[in-house]
Amino acid sequence: MKKLKVGVLGATGMVGQRYIALLENHPWFSVTYLAASPRSAGKKYFEAVLGRWQMTTPIPNSVKNIEVYDANKVEAAIGKVDFVFSAVELDKELTRELEMKYARNNIPVVSNCSAHRGTEDVPMLIPEINHSHLEIIPIQQENRGLKKGFVVVKPNCSVQSYITPMFALEQKGYKISRAIISTMQATSGAGHPGVPSLDLLDNIIPYIGGEEEKSEVEPQKILGSVQNGKIIKDTSIKISAHCNRVPVVDGHTACVSLEFADQKNKPSIEEIKKIWKEFSSIPQELDLPSAPKQPIIYNEDQDRPQPRKDRDNDKGMSVTVGRLRECNVFDIRFVGLSHNTIRGAAGGGILNAELLHAKGFLWFESIIKLFKYYSCMDYKESIAKLLAKETKFDKDKIIELLEVPPQGLGDYAFPCFILAKELKKNPLEISKEISSKIKEDFLEKVDAKGPYVNFFISKGDLSTSVLTNIFTGKLINSTEKEKVMVEYSSPNTNKPLHLGHLRNNILGLSISNLLEAKGQK
Ligand code: NAP
Repeated sequence: MKKLKVGVLGATGMVGQRYIALLENHPWFSVTYLAASPRSAGKKYFEAVLGRWQMTTPIPNSVKNIEVYDANKVEAAIGKVDFVFSAVELDKELTRELEMKYARNNIPVVSNCSAHRGTEDVPMLIPEINHSHLEIIPIQQENRGLKKGFVVVKPNCSVQSYITPMFALEQKGYKISRAIISTMQATSGAGHPGVPSLDLLDNIIPYIGGEEEKSEVEPQKILGSVQNGKIIKDTSIKISAHCNRVPVVDGHTACVSLEFADQKNKPSIEEIKKIWKEFSSIPQELDLPSAPKQPIIYNEDQDRPQPRKDRDNDKGMSVTVGRLRECNVFDIRFVGLSHNTIRGAAGGGILNAELLHAKGFLWFESIIKLFKYYSCMDYKESIAKLLAKETKFDKDKIIELLEVPPQGLGDYAFPCFILAKELKKNPLEISKEISSKIKEDFLEKVDAKGPYVNFFISKGDLSTSVLTNIFTGKLINSTEKEKVMVEYSSPNTNKPLHLGHLRNNILGLSISNLLEAKGQK
């Protein structure tokens, strides 16, 4: 496969250097363009980072001599890249405008900066959690008149340490109502040179500007859903965060206490560990090059996770969790840890780009990878499997019972009468219970309507699935080879065509093409 040409904006900084190190020998992307502040512009990369290269591996030979451009001069990147990673340290308003300028010039931007995290039509991605938010990209392009360019961002560098384990529980039906989070954030999170050593050594600084707000608000967008062309936040979850800067080089740690919304249905400690250990998502299914094999690693040792010992787990891309126990105030507490400049910054950005590539947003050829996933999608079967898991009812029986409801009530409906008899419960109660528990990316929503559970399939998912099946020839798949005669008007040399003929020409040609695609002659 031909590699995509990629640029790094802010290539000389803490995150930019991490990008350079991680992208060396990347199977899909090759660094062809580097940019930073006007101070570094015009220098060779090795000159621009002289005396401040922070990685433990040497500067890759492939980038050493590349000239660094001024990131503010977008024109310089045109024609040199297929997309860029953005890790510039600039005023928010300037960053917002700069990133959109790249997008307007047909250069997609995968950003680490916070500037666009609050923008309604910009997805903030953790691929294991909200990969479905990619469906906002065509809307963003339409809203802003963008052709090929767009902006996606990743969240704050500490968020994944706690939101990934929280999401894994929510996905299994254990909705979280409140959380208290205390983070201990590494110095590399402040960029280079960062906090002066005399301020930080032998010390803890209980304040990181803007960080607590980000830690509280960003999860609501990540856990939200795309509705009517917007990302609607999940505001049902309330988070209170304390953010501290600690004298650790890399690795953000979070001590978390959680309360479950349904106090009658709380998971046991053992069940939670099992959910975390088994958690897997689209990056793993698509086998993306940077995806960790196990997104959440549970460490049973009583004094883990620890930054120095656990931040590099699975190439620095896993979240390591430990010390799960009951909480005297809320329901449970635990410690989460992840590498802030890998999973929380450059590695997370690269995983976002890999997801975009696999989903065909960066290069159409890569849609073939996606085909593998979607061409196996049978919605009725998938819904029946989800229902079988929730109800312990036979899947094949559920398939027989699934109905197509009247217009406006969804794509499939499951009547709960049969369960009412078995469970000796009101079917209205059962439908409410089931609909609150089922949450899947291919489902836009699951609604209880009287005794029915109504399933609405995500339009983005459905259209990708239909197109996939068309392109892979699975939708029209016939062994019929008979000859068929289709009679319709076509241009006639003896008689001029008039407008009325056009309809018949188009209909006839379409029928003829469809039959030919089916294998008929
Ligand atoms: P950093 O070490 O201070 O690097 C900043 C980069 O921005 C450098 O390449 C710098 O170029 C460039 N820059 C500075 N002023 C500029 C200007 N006026 N125009 C264009 N480029 C300019 O910061 P960092 O820690 O790498 O963070 C970069 C971005 O990623 C920030 O937005 C930060 O919030 C975000 N982020 C950081 C982390 C983390 O853990 N560090 C995690 C997630 C997100 P010069 O070298 O030429 O000055």
